[in-house]
Amino acid sequence: MSDSPRQYRRVLLKLSGEALMGDLDYGIDPAVIQRIASEIGTATKQEIEIAIVIGGGNIFRGAGLARAGMDRVTGDYMGMLATVMNALAIQDALEAINVYARVMSALQIHQVSEDYIRRRAVRHLEKGRVVILAAGTGNPFFTTDTAASLRAIEIGADILLKATKVDGVYDADPVSNPEAKRYKTVSFDQVLADKLSVMDATAIVMCRDNNLPLRIFDLTQPGALVQAMSGDDVGTLVTF
Ligand code: UDP
Repeated sequence: MSDSPRQYRRVLLKLSGEALMGDLDYGIDPAVIQRIASEIGTATKQEIEIAIVIGGGNIFRGAGLARAGMDRVTGDYMGMLATVMNALAIQDALEAINVYARVMSALQIHQVSEDYIRRRAVRHLEKGRVVILAAGTGNPFFTTDTAASLRAIEIGADILLKATKVDGVYDADPVSNPEAKRYKTVSFDQVLADKLSVMDATAIVMCRDNNLPLRIFDLTQPGALVQAMSGDDVGTLVTF
């Protein structure tokens, strides 16, 4: 656990669908989701308000379905529905350890989740509930990274924390290039100019133009999630 002073009051955590897969090829690894839930539970005990935007890439991505011949918009709706399934799994894992959580969906599916209503989401956060934001922006041709930047700005989050499988942003691909160097901080403009693989450009521009800092960190490192939420200097901070 972090021993640094808590810096953030409210954070938005972006989890990709792949983060839930662990070493599987598809779907959700129960052990991985339990570990993530436990770290989120630890952060809520530090009175950090947490909203989560979850991806769906472990099940469906619209672009992949379109490449296989499906109509792109239909594929994107399937991708958004995949994020709803992941959101329910996270809600379940949090409730299993007595952390209050609410799924709020950008698509209306009243039997399984609340609708996303900004004021209601903020109220849940103020009451200490983890809010899990499903179905991205609710619109095809967007990504859950863009949904994460949009929602973080809407709910007044202090930072967007993007969980990945690498420990930050590098100047080259660290897997194929052993000389690649990790940035401790990097500017949004450099990320865009150098096409550094952080998040899609729409999401980066949203953060930059709305003064929302972004931290990229390695979710597979035990404790890194709590450290990132506590304001510790893990991974890479993208600033202005
Ligand atoms: N999606 C969409 N609109 C959104 C967010 C997501 O159409 O606002 C669809 C899109 O097809 C995307 C899929 O949902 O590929 C899953 O989201 P994403 O690829 O962002 O998930 P991740 O890569 O984070 O797992």
